Amino acid sequence: MAFTVAIVGRPNVGKSTLFNRLVGRRAALVAPTPGVTRDRREGWARIGPLRFRVIDTAGLEEAAPETLAGRMMAQTEQALAEADAALLLIDGRSGVTPADTFFANQLRRLQVPVILAVNKCEGGAGEGGIADSHALGFGQPIPISAEHGEGLGDLYDALSPFEAAAPAAPALGADAVLRLAIVGRPNVGKSTLLNRLVGEVRVITGAEPGLTRDAIAVRWSYRDRAVELVDTAGLRRAARTTAPLDKLSSRDAQRALGQAAVVLVVLDAAEPLGRQDMAIAARVADEGRALVILLNKWDLVRERKDTRAAVEQRLEATLAQVKGIRLVTCSGLTGAGAGGIMPAVLDAYDTWNRRVPTAQLNRWLAEAADHHPPPLAAGRRLKLRYITQVKARPPTFALFVSRPQALPESYRRYLVNGIGAEFGLAGVPIRLLLRAGKNPYAPG
Ligand code: GDP
Ligand code: GDP
Repeated sequence: MAFTVAIVGRPNVGKSTLFNRLVGRRAALVAPTPGVTRDRREGWARIGPLRFRVIDTAGLEEAAPETLAGRMMAQTEQALAEADAALLLIDGRSGVTPADTFFANQLRRLQVPVILAVNKCEGGAGEGGIADSHALGFGQPIPISAEHGEGLGDLYDALSPFEAAAPAAPALGADAVLRLAIVGRPNVGKSTLLNRLVGEVRVITGAEPGLTRDAIAVRWSYRDRAVELVDTAGLRRAARTTAPLDKLSSRDAQRALGQAAVVLVVLDAAEPLGRQDMAIAARVADEGRALVILLNKWDLVRERKDTRAAVEQRLEATLAQVKGIRLVTCSGLTGAGAGGIMPAVLDAYDTWNRRVPTAQLNRWLAEAADHHPPPLAAGRRLKLRYITQVKARPPTFALFVSRPQALPESYRRYLVNGIGAEFGLAGVPIRLLLRAGKNPYAPG
């Protein structure tokens, strides 16, 4: 693994701004309200050629554990336990505050290597803060400006030794991990479930409203596979939200969906598959993601057999573009059935990645055309010449036909369903592209 850096510091020093600067795309929300960064976020950071994993933490505050701040502190400690180094940020314009000192002492207690950066130093500002900060005892402070991108060269110098110490970096990017998004209407139990899955309290559930409005990435491993869970707080409709933060959240949800390989669509088993649920599931399929449906709050359901059958039937009828969707029942609250979630997710993921050999495909195509010949077009029978899988994720096939425009939708659907059934591509959208002419790869 590459090395991991946790950005820590009291609220409002610019942690999120720095995180965004390092990660590049807007993976975290930034707002000038203290404490808005309530939960940890993670991303791949980059300074020049240096790549590392960065964790943005909530502010450590002097507070009792039962308060929100206390719980945030517990999360920050957890983040530090995973980090190779802590990047302690202070605000150069306000100098060293008692909260910074408290922080510094906590870090010392945890015995992680600490790099001290003094933020908001653009244009030579923050000199007072730099002078003060020597007293924190972490050596030479690094003046930076997260907002203006200044001081990153010095940050690079301070961080690059950690790369040498870390084992070889993995292939970075989307392929290295199984990205799993959890979506669903508000209150179906997504946060509860996420905590259950990860097996530790990382996403704060509780009474404070808006706690899960950010898309939050959580990394863990399951049977030796790296999984990144993204809790999106539901695919909210932009029209329903007015506050700027909520608009951002909605965009986060869309992006999370775009990045995910597998999407767990959570339903409330007490009221499953309403219009909104169906719209979410259809959206997931249209985006080409593998789909697993989770019937949550199963503990509240009495007529279990009937409920399950009704949901299966409705899925089959309404979501015709994806056959054989995996359906898991569970209670996020009690944990019953939760053990079935990850196996279904992995299974769906493997299917989503599957490649079918061309020879098998063409053998199947000949049989399918025999069994149910393609229709006539302008008096001549359409010829299905050749089929090949052009990509996975999701499985996408190109079919070479004599006259693609003339192939009726019903016949296309017959072929798509046939491929799915023959090659076991359940629960993933299958794409079939029609191309004119002969097999371009055939000799002559
Ligand atoms: P966090 O609570 O530590 O995550 O802080 P934020 O990243 O939300 O930033 C708090 C405020 O400081 C925001 O208003 C930012 O725009 C501002 N800020 C962040 N970095 C800089 C910087 O380099 N210079 C200046 N002047 N302001 C900054
Ligand atoms: P989210 O908005 O989808 O993230 O939903 P939450 O995880 O915040 O849960 C919403 C409410 O449903 C909370 O009061 C949970 O305690 C409750 N809840 C979540 N999962 C279950 C479950 O499996 N069974 C029951 N009975 N309640 C649940």
